[in-house]
Amino acid sequence: MNYNCSIQWLALACKPVYTRGMNPTSYSTWIEIDLGIIRQNIKLIQQLTGCPAMVIVKGNAYGHGALPVARAAVEAGVTWCGVSRLEEALALRRGGLSCHLMVLGYTPPEEIPSAMAHQISLAVYDLILVKKYLDYASTSPGQLKVHVKIETGMGRLGIPYQMGLEFTRFLADQPKLIVEGIFTHFARADEPTADTTRLQIERFETVLDELQSRGICPPLVHASNSAGAISFKKARYDLIRTGAAIYGLNPSPAVPLPDGFEPALTWKARLISIKELAEGHGVSYGSRYITRRAERIGVIPVGYADGYRRIDGQEVLINETRVRVVGSVCMDQCMVQLDDLPGAGLEDEVVLLGRQGRQLISAEELGKRWGTINYEVVCGLANRLPRIYPKSIRAS
Ligand SMILES: *Cc1c(COP(=O)(O)O)cnc(C)c1O
Repeated sequence: MNYNCSIQWLALACKPVYTRGMNPTSYSTWIEIDLGIIRQNIKLIQQLTGCPAMVIVKGNAYGHGALPVARAAVEAGVTWCGVSRLEEALALRRGGLSCHLMVLGYTPPEEIPSAMAHQISLAVYDLILVKKYLDYASTSPGQLKVHVKIETGMGRLGIPYQMGLEFTRFLADQPKLIVEGIFTHFARADEPTADTTRLQIERFETVLDELQSRGICPPLVHASNSAGAISFKKARYDLIRTGAAIYGLNPSPAVPLPDGFEPALTWKARLISIKELAEGHGVSYGSRYITRRAERIGVIPVGYADGYRRIDGQEVLINETRVRVVGSVCMDQCMVQLDDLPGAGLEDEVVLLGRQGRQLISAEELGKRWGTINYEVVCGLANRLPRIYPKSIRAS
């Protein structure tokens, strides 16, 4: 070995592992969630509306991780969390969460004893189902807590508002039930015109008035999702049910979040290979991209099995620069064109969704590109992506 060669080897051996990537994890791709931002968003929506929040953590907290988000919500003073299914609520109980929990969707009658044992409140919206619930409840200790769901225009779950009085009276007469709340859900609160929501509020209040005149006053009245809470003062009642706002997602283009809210999620990866491919070289399955000259092509370990989309025209951030994804997106990998980024290095940080320095790829932007909405983007992030919770950039 000559002198020059060993010096080179030494220089290489002494190089820090991460020269510029500053990668805080040992994963190839992962999601970072700032729980401090979520706590701040929760405080903001409660201040803005003057109303306590039921924080909605269904769908693994819109991809953000149900248990960590629910714990952060409780730290922020929240007393209610909502999910879609009983198994989501049970997982939170298993994780040690002791706040009020509500299942917004259907619960199989067989699960009633479990809901009762774990103090989980259920939505009820159908007399046939309720009678089955009562059968199961009759042989279980304690009482089942329910929230009556009123159908006022969403065309989904709910007892039609014309039958709301009769249904709720029946429930209130059952010793095995506690009617803890009454609620409805808006179909178009995120749109520029208010007509449908106003009609829904009117129908809901008809039921509330009828009940009140008979002395039935369920303690918790709730109606608004994030968009409703922002746009309809009248519909805040005792609780707002908020998901989108606490994750920093705009409910819609017509009802964006006010200033101060921030997205909490960043999807990152490492640049795992950089090569110069000769002119005329195919990239990825089907060679749907062919190099036009010698090109620098990078590989990132992200594909459609992670919830990325197999479509053309995507962009990612590397060194605070937008670069193009080229060729078909594979199941676990895709390729990027690095000619504008001569400084890019192996294992550099890539951002697929979220902020990198001054650059941002928002869930709204990805949603537009994917022909869908921001909600579907974050909910579609695959389970195999590790969720990590770094120290917050927020003081709170
Ligand atoms: C998901 C959901 C919400 C939360 O909606 P956002 O738009 O995310 O605030 C509220 N209520 C019900 C019944 C829901 O299913």
